[in-house]
Amino acid sequence: MKNNVLNKRNFAEGASKLPNSVWVQTAPSVIETHSLEKDISTEVAIIGAGYTGLSAALHLAPDISPVVIEANEVGHGASGRNNGLVIPTLSKADPEEIIRIFGQEKGEQTIALIRDSASLVFNLIRKHNMEKAGEQTGWIQPAHSPGRMKLIEKRVTEWSKRGLKADLLDKEQLEGLVGSSAWFGGWIAHDGGTIHPMAYVRGMAKAVVNLGARIFTNSPALSLTRDDNGWLIRTKNGSVKANRVILATNAYTDDLWPKLRRTIIPVKTWQMATKPLSDNIRKAILPGRHGLSDTRGDLEFARYDWDGRLVSGASLIFDINSENRLRAHVGKRLQKNFPQLGQVEWEFIWSGFLSMTTDYLPRLHVLAPGVFTWLGCNGRGVALSTAMGSVLADLVRGQPIKDAPLPVTDLKTVPAHGLVTQFARINLLQRRRNDKKEFN
Ligand SMILES: Cc1cc2nc3c(=O)[nH]c(=O)nc-3n(C[C@H](O)[C@H](O)[C@H](O)COP(=O)(O)OP(=O)(O)OC[C@H]3O[C@@H](n4cnc5c(N)ncnc54)[C@H](O)[C@@H]3O)c2cc1C
Repeated sequence: MKNNVLNKRNFAEGASKLPNSVWVQTAPSVIETHSLEKDISTEVAIIGAGYTGLSAALHLAPDISPVVIEANEVGHGASGRNNGLVIPTLSKADPEEIIRIFGQEKGEQTIALIRDSASLVFNLIRKHNMEKAGEQTGWIQPAHSPGRMKLIEKRVTEWSKRGLKADLLDKEQLEGLVGSSAWFGGWIAHDGGTIHPMAYVRGMAKAVVNLGARIFTNSPALSLTRDDNGWLIRTKNGSVKANRVILATNAYTDDLWPKLRRTIIPVKTWQMATKPLSDNIRKAILPGRHGLSDTRGDLEFARYDWDGRLVSGASLIFDINSENRLRAHVGKRLQKNFPQLGQVEWEFIWSGFLSMTTDYLPRLHVLAPGVFTWLGCNGRGVALSTAMGSVLADLVRGQPIKDAPLPVTDLKTVPAHGLVTQFARINLLQRRRNDKKEFN
């Protein structure tokens, strides 16, 4: 059970190696960076070189040149490990629900931020010429039950009303787009698509440095304390004095800021890539290279990489004989959805942690004057982290907190956090039960 849980200890226990993932093996090379070996000062320091931190840096530069401090490599966290589905929605709450919880004005602002988040990703890729970083082919969510199809109808109505380019797909239309009759219909968000996660984060790092920002890697921030009028970040061999700080550590948050780690539940999920599929199979399965993830609580998802590998994955309750179990489990699942596949041959398996909140909503915090963070992607962090990077950049520039497009909330730790984190994955049993119930 030990390595189900991300904590300070396994962070220090050589987490710095990048996983042997298809993304690491096929990404353009990363710009050269070094560890911090001296004392420097800057207007804005950003801790964490994933989509959040680097998007914030991209939205600040060139007029503010931030310093980015990363414990490991660029994209070491979830940003280099994910499935790369670019999705302009939250995982649970749809617009009416967002308004019910956040209120009319803030709710509409949040909705607009999420609606535009996928396009923001692809616009950044185009603007900064990020090599092989993304394809805006659209994201499809098939319904695994008639009940979920009803939910999707409501989802499409609510999002379309707010300007998201979305279409409902009946069973036949869905089958035409994805090459499977396993679902009951679905919908497409046309602004969505897929990224090469590592190419995107490395592309961001390159763009940020080109704009004058500095990135220091293999330099964990060990403390963050008040200093004169600003903040002091200490690393092993250096320090950064900054007027303002963005903590962009998300699921990989350690104990740098008191209590922050305990406000989210880091959940381990597995990703897997097949060997490249034949042209014939690729014409039959997801021929338009859409990104796909369905409505199950125990999510079923798939997309192609640039070489025609199908990239999918799953969550597990226990880490025992994980890779063999995953090969069988996810292979069977893909064959059920796409019988054209035949025998599934896996080439890569890796894992990462995503940050969950108890209500599946993102959190935006002002931790102290001049220290900002957000957490809680709930599995939708590619587009959302990129958008939240821009939100954090605006706050750092001095935007009044009341004008942030999300409510700024106080830190709220998850009760019995250690226990909840240890057992979070057992929740999967309940989700699987719900998925079955709904089907009947
Ligand atoms: C397996 C997996 C699949 C996913 N699939 C999808 C998907 O298909 N679509 C989607 O929308 N979302 C997906 N997500 C979620 C998405 O990847 C994340 O929400 C997003 O990458 C978060 O970006 P981030 O920059 O906020 O955090 P991260 O990318 O996790 O970056 C945080 C960084 O902070 C660094 N750090 C931590 N502590 C310190 C410290 N003390 N000092 C210095 N640096 C520190 C870490 O090393 C890390 O690099 C997935 C996540 C995982 C794990």
